[in-house]
Amino acid sequence: MTSDNTRLRIAIQKSGRLSKECQQLLKGCGVKLNIREQRLIAHAENMPVDLLLVRDDDIPGLVMDGVVDLGVVGENVLEETLMERQAQGEAAAYNVLKRLDFGGCRLSLAVAQDAPYTNVQSLEGKRIATSYPWLLKRFMDSHGVKFKSVMLNGSVEVAPRAGVADAICDLVSTGATLEANGLVEADVIFRSKAVLIQSAVELSAAKQAVIDKLLPRIQGLQQARESKYIMLHAPKDRLEQVIDLLPGAERPTIMALAGESNQVAIHVVSSEDMFWETMEGLKELGASSILVLPIEKMME
Ligand code: ATP
Ligand code: MG
Repeated sequence: MTSDNTRLRIAIQKSGRLSKECQQLLKGCGVKLNIREQRLIAHAENMPVDLLLVRDDDIPGLVMDGVVDLGVVGENVLEETLMERQAQGEAAAYNVLKRLDFGGCRLSLAVAQDAPYTNVQSLEGKRIATSYPWLLKRFMDSHGVKFKSVMLNGSVEVAPRAGVADAICDLVSTGATLEANGLVEADVIFRSKAVLIQSAVELSAAKQAVIDKLLPRIQGLQQARESKYIMLHAPKDRLEQVIDLLPGAERPTIMALAGESNQVAIHVVSSEDMFWETMEGLKELGASSILVLPIEKMME
């Protein structure tokens, strides 16, 4: 890595569940990337930004040690690393710049489908396989349940069948992997999303200026993803009822339609999704030509 103190260094996952969305996020912010296979570093062509492509487990430590300025990582990995580092007396400071809208998952306890389970007390004295021993211990301690931790960095879901654990504590999004392994989700112990974090080391003015550019752009992309542009024609005498039905439409634009005195065009940016039911309701009120469009970017 160069020691250039003007280029912002961002660590992202090299390949895995967060990498595609991280790269899309940066691209959406206008950062032109030239990522080559097998390379640890990628330099942006049009902005003073360098990317470090690493395993997600390494990202919190790189940020906490000030090796990189920013990092994108799941809160599960962040929180686990934080607890581990605190216990070992290592540097553990960082700031969360933004909670992102991807990488959603939950860390859950799961047991064999035929195992008796009423609540977490059912796991008293049991062996639990996990890659997240600190998050698991915090949860079990808070419920006063004693257990034995079996540390596994992969294939956690096969542990009960292999006879090395009685239960597992692993990441779940749909539950399909659990089901395929004859397990059921028993309790959620942590909910996670990807976050953008910053090192606690003070940044040069040049680097801070890049962050000040990127953050509003990320905000604009997220807001755009949550919003829709809605256009429709509506009868003038039902205007208020139509507007009432539009989701999150406080100040719509109303425009005249050429050669049509009974109808107007309504345009509105909606902060919510538009459901088929709402569109059908609008149609019943006499609305027509209803269009729902995605928005690419927003700045307020
Ligand atoms: P690496 O090789 O970088 O260490 P990994 O195998 O540890 O990768 P991935 O499976 O790519 O990690 O998951 C990265 C992150 O994606 C997780 O830590 C979590 O925050 C998030 N994530 C979202 N959904 C899921 C899911 N269903 N299972 C696992 N992780 C998920
Ligand atoms: Mg990992």
